[in-house]
Amino acid sequence: MRESCSISLPVLVVLSTIAYIYYTTVFVFIDGWFGLRTSPGFMNAVIFTATASMCIFNYVAAVVKDPGLVSSTFVPDIEDAETPIHEIKRKGGDLRYCQKCSNFKPPRTHHCRVCKRCVLRMDHHCIWLNNCVGHANYKVFFVFVLYAVISCIYALVLLVGSVAQDAQKDEEKSRGSIRTLYIISGILLVPLSVALSILLGWHIYLILHNKTTIEYHEGVRAMWLAEKVGNVYQHPYDLGPYENLTSVLGPSIFTWICPISRHIGSGLRFRTSYDMMIPASI
Ligand SMILES: [Zn+2]
Ligand SMILES: [Zn+2]
Repeated sequence: MRESCSISLPVLVVLSTIAYIYYTTVFVFIDGWFGLRTSPGFMNAVIFTATASMCIFNYVAAVVKDPGLVSSTFVPDIEDAETPIHEIKRKGGDLRYCQKCSNFKPPRTHHCRVCKRCVLRMDHHCIWLNNCVGHANYKVFFVFVLYAVISCIYALVLLVGSVAQDAQKDEEKSRGSIRTLYIISGILLVPLSVALSILLGWHIYLILHNKTTIEYHEGVRAMWLAEKVGNVYQHPYDLGPYENLTSVLGPSIFTWICPISRHIGSGLRFRTSYDMMIPASI
């Protein structure tokens, strides 16, 4: 767990939104469409509770977990410095050093200006988590986004079904307060489903190429510079889609969608396409 864990306004907004969507989906949409005491109603409530629980568990884990602290005793391996690590920002083979933290920086580590510290395999700083997404919490962040997409689309289907069921009933029986809940839920769920699906697609792309968001942007520039001199830039940590998936999310398909397996390795060194012969866990 990180040293300073403050509950920010965006974190409260996310928790309130999850609570609102859960309440309306189970106690208004499912109850209105099937009835919670019927078998289909009960089954839908159980399945939705499971996906919503995974969503909130991974969200809280991503908020409270330290994203990847660089130990003040970290000293780069001089032998590593002599081998081609191919860091994009590495100039003239110098060891990477953070002036603000007065520490050597392991490969893929970046200094976060918001957190005011270096973060291992930093992806980005997320205001909705009030935390950085880095080596140690990337997995739970990804699993959170995955279950958030599943939960939002599931809730949207139940909303549409409940509205359609209501439309068949006598209009006078359909209360105004329920209609307001339908409208608020639709206003929340449609943009959330679209935005989270795009975010999920983006991170699936990044995982398949073993890139962080920062490395993607650095790579675009590196590719342009390489093309100018007639070279082809290749991301050094791209080991092929399957190797990339297993090195970022875990060794099997089951662990890819569960938060149970920790992020692989120490975060101090990563395999590159140049040293594929070195064992994965260091
Ligand atoms: Zn730093
Ligand atoms: Zn940060």
